[in-house]
Formats: sequence, structure tokens, C-alpha cells
Amino acid sequence: MKLLDPHATIEAARQGGYAVGAYNMHNEETCEALLMAAEEADSPVILQVGRAIIPHWGVARSFEMTKRLAEKSGAEVIFHLDHGSWDEVHEAIKLGFNSIMYDGAHLPLDENIASTKRIVEICHSFGIPVEAELGKIPDADEKVDWSDYYTDVEEARRFVKETGVDTLAISVGIVHGVVPGRPQEPISIERTREIKEAVGIPLVLHGASGLSNEEVQGAKAAGVCKFNADTDLRHAFRRGFESVWAQGDRQLEDAMREGRKQMIPATIEKMRQYGCAGRAGGVTRRAAA
Ligand SMILES: [Zn+2]
Repeated sequence: MKLLDPHATIEAARQGGYAVGAYNMHNEETCEALLMAAEEADSPVILQVGRAIIPHWGVARSFEMTKRLAEKSGAEVIFHLDHGSWDEVHEAIKLGFNSIMYDGAHLPLDENIASTKRIVEICHSFGIPVEAELGKIPDADEKVDWSDYYTDVEEARRFVKETGVDTLAISVGIVHGVVPGRPQEPISIERTREIKEAVGIPLVLHGASGLSNEEVQGAKAAGVCKFNADTDLRHAFRRGFESVWAQGDRQLEDAMREGRKQMIPATIEKMRQYGCAGRAGGVTRRAAA
């Protein structure tokens, strides 16, 4: 394993015109699939402790599993906490995460700014970059009026300036989870570009499952340097799992092995689409050059 400096990794992506993917672990097999995909695609990988595993295992157990498996692999990794609460961020710093997303979205804007600013000060004192999210991102099954949900350009400008966050996750028509068949309108590349011009820092897109290749390429060109994708990979795992289970009662291990097997190419496909495949070692090579 090689632990990547997240700041240098995102900066290399920004300069190189590509993006890095962040994916969730749900158990050992999904974590292994991400590591195997990263090795096979020669890609950096952001291993994300996300909102599904935390209620199930807690931050510490999720991190320990991820770190143990990563250390056995040859992958280049970043340990990232996704949508961390105040307490979870503090726990994550102690555990050894090297990248943090803090979520103060439940607070009114002024309080969100104040608490995010404090988190940035704490994380930066440990050399850890901070991501935050602005604008509401609905769940896949919600019906919404998108004008209320998009990240506001002026709010984003103020938020970034006052908090000092390193990257900003934005809402431009994406959802958490996936819409079956994704019937809704495409994401707004125009709004993405406007936000990027206002804030001047790399942007992040959560809920990037189900996006068309055109949307992904457009978002990258507009300033997105990190995509969070979970649902498409989870579905690949599930297809493998169910293909075994459909044969009647089988061992769970056989089903999970097939889930892992099918999740690997699905992850590699994302890495190619984001443009980070073949970029492992890029940061080191550039620093050494
Ligand atoms: Zn999010």
C-alpha cells in the first residue's frame, strides 16, 4: 500500500484534467474489490467510510478493516470519511484518516460556516484537507424542484472564503442513491462552471452513479476533481451475489466471492471514465521530477 497525500492527489488531477473516484466499503469483499480494481487499473483510490457502514460498524471498526486490507495490497490509497459529524471527524483524525468531509448542512448557514471553519482549523493542523457540501442533495426517491436544491453561487463563494475548505461538494442535479433508469434532467454543467469560477477550488460530485459519460466528462471539464460513486458498484456486487443465490441455497462465501468479482470491472470502468486509471504513481513521479 502507498498512502497518498490527498491534497497532492487532487492537485495532480486538477492540473491533469482528470478526476479521482471515491467509493464506499460495505464489508471486506467490497473493500477488496476497490483495492483490486485500483491495482489492476493502476489508479489512485479514495476509500470512503460512508453513511451506510457507519451505523452498522461504527467509524473505528470500518477504518480498521479498510486499513488492514489496504496494507496487504499494492494500491495507492486515501482514507476518507464521508459526511462526518463533528464527533466523527474528531474520531477519524485520531484513527488516522488522512482526508475528511465534514457535514454541517443541518445547521443554518452562519452556524454551518462557523463550525466548518473550526473543523478546517483542526484538520489543517494535522495536515488533513477538508471537503464540505453546500446545497441540498435529495435522496433518489424524492420529488424535488431543482431550483431549491442547486448550490447557490454567491453562497458558495462566501462559504469557501470564510471556511477555508479545500474542496466543495455541490448540488447540480445529482441525487444520493440512484433513480431507476435515471429519468430526470441531466446535471447542470453551467452551474458547475459558475460555482467553480466563484470558489476557485476543486469541486466534488456526490451521487455520481447513473451519470452518462457525457455528464461525467462535462463535469470534469467544468472543475470537478472528485466523484463519489457507490450505487453502480453496489449493484454490480449485488448482480454477482444474486447470480449465485439464484441457483438455490448456496454458501454466502460463494455469493460474496462472485459479488466481489463483478464489482472489480465496474470499479475499473469508473476509474477509466474519471481519467484516473493509469495515474497511480503520478503524484510521486511528478514530485520527483
Ligand atoms: Zn453527499
